[in-house]
Amino acid sequence: MVNRTKHTYGVQIYDFIKDICVICPNCSAKAIVKTGEFHKLKYNEYEVKVVCTACGFNQTLEHVSPRIDKKQKRGNILIFGAPVDPFFHLPVWFSTSFEGETLWAYNTEHLDFLAEHIGSKLRERNNFSFNVKSIGARLPKWMTSANNREDLLKAIHKLKLK
Ligand SMILES: [Zn+2]
Repeated sequence: MVNRTKHTYGVQIYDFIKDICVICPNCSAKAIVKTGEFHKLKYNEYEVKVVCTACGFNQTLEHVSPRIDKKQKRGNILIFGAPVDPFFHLPVWFSTSFEGETLWAYNTEHLDFLAEHIGSKLRERNNFSFNVKSIGARLPKWMTSANNREDLLKAIHKLKLK
């Protein structure tokens, strides 16, 4: 038996923390938060920066976060699982309201993942590979409800064109 979605349960939200599309704080165009090698868990606040090709806005994390403890290189507040980038807390570009909920993604790769997962009719959990931290297992019910499937896929497609 082929289980098409098994692998999605092993995907972590961190896997999508690469280039994150956000709303530029300066001009409201689409800006990119560059995260260096964060997805490989090599977090370096000097590599994390927000850049906007529309207006030239460019800021590294070290300049906006006095909370970073230089000795421990920790202590900065990172936010995951919310429609903001984890570092600067800027609103993500790919965000829309869906029946009172917020449908959002860090980037198109993340959107594709959601579309694949929501669109799949097979959502079997394999006990062996099941990981409670994975976003496949943590997608909210309104996202995995069969009733919403068609409309959600449309909304995701629309977001991708944004
Ligand atoms: Zn800008």
